[in-house]
Amino acid sequence: MNQILLIYGLPAALLVGAYLWRYRRRERQHREVLEDSQAAGLTEPAGLHPVVDPLRCVGSASCVSACPEQAIGVVGGLAQLVNPAACIGHGACAAACPFEAIQLVFGTAKRGIDIPQVGPDFQTNVPGVYIAGELGGMGLIHKAATQGQRALEYISKRRAAPGALDVVIVGAGPAGLAAALAAKQRGLRYVLLEQEGTFGGSILHYPRRKVAMTSPMTLPMVGRVKWREIAKESLVDFWDGVMREQRLEVRFREAMLAIERKGDGFLVATPRARHETRNVLLCLGRRGTPRKLGVPGEDLPKVVYRLIDAYQYRGRRMLVIGGGDSAVEAALALAGEPDTSVSLSYRGAGFDRVKPANRQRLEAASGIRVLLQSTVRSISPAAVELEQQGKKVALPNDDVVVCAGGDLPTAMLRSIGIEVQTHFGNVAYSSAAR
Ligand SMILES: Cc1cc2nc3c(=O)[nH]c(=O)nc-3n(C[C@H](O)[C@H](O)[C@H](O)COP(=O)(O)OP(=O)(O)OC[C@H]3O[C@@H](n4cnc5c(N)ncnc54)[C@H](O)[C@@H]3O)c2cc1C
Repeated sequence: MNQILLIYGLPAALLVGAYLWRYRRRERQHREVLEDSQAAGLTEPAGLHPVVDPLRCVGSASCVSACPEQAIGVVGGLAQLVNPAACIGHGACAAACPFEAIQLVFGTAKRGIDIPQVGPDFQTNVPGVYIAGELGGMGLIHKAATQGQRALEYISKRRAAPGALDVVIVGAGPAGLAAALAAKQRGLRYVLLEQEGTFGGSILHYPRRKVAMTSPMTLPMVGRVKWREIAKESLVDFWDGVMREQRLEVRFREAMLAIERKGDGFLVATPRARHETRNVLLCLGRRGTPRKLGVPGEDLPKVVYRLIDAYQYRGRRMLVIGGGDSAVEAALALAGEPDTSVSLSYRGAGFDRVKPANRQRLEAASGIRVLLQSTVRSISPAAVELEQQGKKVALPNDDVVVCAGGDLPTAMLRSIGIEVQTHFGNVAYSSAAR
């Protein structure tokens, strides 16, 4: 009897022991991630995210293994979002849960998310104005690209009279680029407007070498694209190749400012033109339009409104403008690059709005020249002129990063007459319905 216990019982006990040891270690790691998120004040997910039903969850951790962003963990035997800021809402967790315990929701009780009303044909309540991609609430590269081209199928049924465009597409992220391909394939007269100096939308803002998780999709004029995982750089190269081969015409640095009705179509106003069109397809994403300084020289190509990759500014003389987290994070990232000199200008007397962790990092950082109570007066190719407490300061400068906040698309949508609903955690998808 003792021998049998030894032969079967001991390995079983060892297996259970090893499982419990690994389970507890993983749970400890997840708890640490959760505590770090809470300490940094990063407790609210930005968009679509999972909510776990505690009565169904058994802590199997299938969702944990399925999430490439490592946003979800098991704490106290139950799955939960331990790193809400990392969640991008692809719902791999909900699909992986064998107990149908996960629902995907928009917004939280604390932070509502504005989603415009869009019909199954992607048309808003304003006839002729369509929305595709993340702006409509559905993030992810392949979904945005698929929606962009599907919207064009409906738009192509409403052609314009000669002299006007069939459609103005706004935003050159995956949704807008796929829509432009579909417009070209269908022979529509279109214009694609992009407020930034380059295409790609949110993709450009992924961290360097990030591996994007996506799904195969079919693009007009291009065909089947089969990747499921692709590095950011390869994704950017892919879209670059598509744009060049298909000769997609994008009007860069031309932001849509307003849409006015004209007859049975619209006038789309930008700083450079008023485009007359029968339809408008908004593929604006959800990051908004950066606020400008309104000073001479701001239109120089050296001025950007988001730091995409600090590495590209190695060895340059940089000025970052702003007093929020994004300005401080940009200055810190740039200061981490060898031979880069960084000045940080803010009109306030201190960085009161910044998260404590960022404030501490800024205080500890060496090599950032902080110019408080300063205002930029003008920008020239090799310098920036500031005013600090009544005195002029001339900074030799190669590049300027303006982090002065932005205007979210909601106000613009409302000004056009599009109905927008604020969601406070309403269920969008459930793993039970997959
Ligand atoms: C850090 C991060 C990681 C991600 N990882 C993944 C991933 O692994 N897999 C995945 O599938 N998805 C991922 N996503 C989500 C994915 O990138 C987005 O869902 C997708 O890019 C949405 O495409 P879009 O075309 O709707 O909008 P966007 O890509 O946001 O593009 C919108 C474009 O519109 C432009 N625009 C806005 N307003 C105006 C205006 N007034 N005039 C002119 N142009 C304007 C913007 O400048 C922008 O270029 C990630 C997102 C982030 C932020």
